[in-house]
Amino acid sequence: MIYPAAQPVPEIEIKAPFIEKAGVQLIVRREDLNHPHISGNKYWKLKYNLLEADKLGHHTLLTFGGAFSNHIAATAAACKAVGLKSIGVIRGEDADLTNPTLAQAVKNGMVIHRISRAKYREKEFASFADEMRMLFSDFFLIPEGGTNDLAIKGTAEMVSRIDTQYDYLALPVGTGGTMAGCIDCLRGQGQILGFSALKGNFLTEEIIALQQQYSLSAFGNWDMINHYHFGGYGKVKDDLIVFMKAFEDQYAIPLEPVYTGKMMFGLLEMIKNAYFRKGSVIYTIHTGGLQGRAGFRRIPA
Ligand SMILES: *Cc1c(COP(=O)(O)O)cnc(C)c1O
Repeated sequence: MIYPAAQPVPEIEIKAPFIEKAGVQLIVRREDLNHPHISGNKYWKLKYNLLEADKLGHHTLLTFGGAFSNHIAATAAACKAVGLKSIGVIRGEDADLTNPTLAQAVKNGMVIHRISRAKYREKEFASFADEMRMLFSDFFLIPEGGTNDLAIKGTAEMVSRIDTQYDYLALPVGTGGTMAGCIDCLRGQGQILGFSALKGNFLTEEIIALQQQYSLSAFGNWDMINHYHFGGYGKVKDDLIVFMKAFEDQYAIPLEPVYTGKMMFGLLEMIKNAYFRKGSVIYTIHTGGLQGRAGFRRIPA
């Protein structure tokens, strides 16, 4: 199997008087442009999973997600690109198959299997995988959000391709798989800042749990920023939308409200609040997810 090549991505410096005043430099890596269909951190999280599935002789990949999931969208596109079959187990029996994410996944050949929210909570049990095997026979399973050791290997590779020198590496966090890969790649150098897209403080422990689970070195040069969740995962507020629109107008970099919009809002506020040492270079990864914007437009304001 040949996994589609990652395109070289631009790095954009964000300039503004308040950034200059803070004495720092802010650079955005447009990892959302690494591939036209797979895109962002999901491109890297899937890479070694697909290669492994192929090596083990599987022809089908099965994974999980919500009705607007970037992971579901990327899995469908990646499987199509390499000629694997894909099955998406979707949360909610009433998930709308005509929403932009699922409609595109179906177009990419994904078989959509909707289950109840109660059933979805059982998806980590072995009995659930057995049930899926009865329905779909053989498949390679990727967990929700795509986080496993092979995903961490892929996101570490993403970071290893950065040539620019920086002091801080900032990225949005969902399951923590991408951040775990970043931490592992940097081997104690610099400071990694994760911006949680979820409400609560549990992602700090989740990173440590991932390091233990996958026998990664317990580097501690990172922080989880937990207060830019805007009410919780997938929740939006007016000030976030206003910010995103202004940012896009000014810098011509599209954001989405679930991950990258919240991170950028937090990062700029922290620069204004003099969080960063003068002279620092802050390097942030645009992790993609722009396919999700289409779904948000359908939600009435
Ligand atoms: C999935 C996703 C994340 C979170 O990645 P994790 O590895 O789950 O932490 C961040 N940004 C975007 C755009 C995503 O789609």
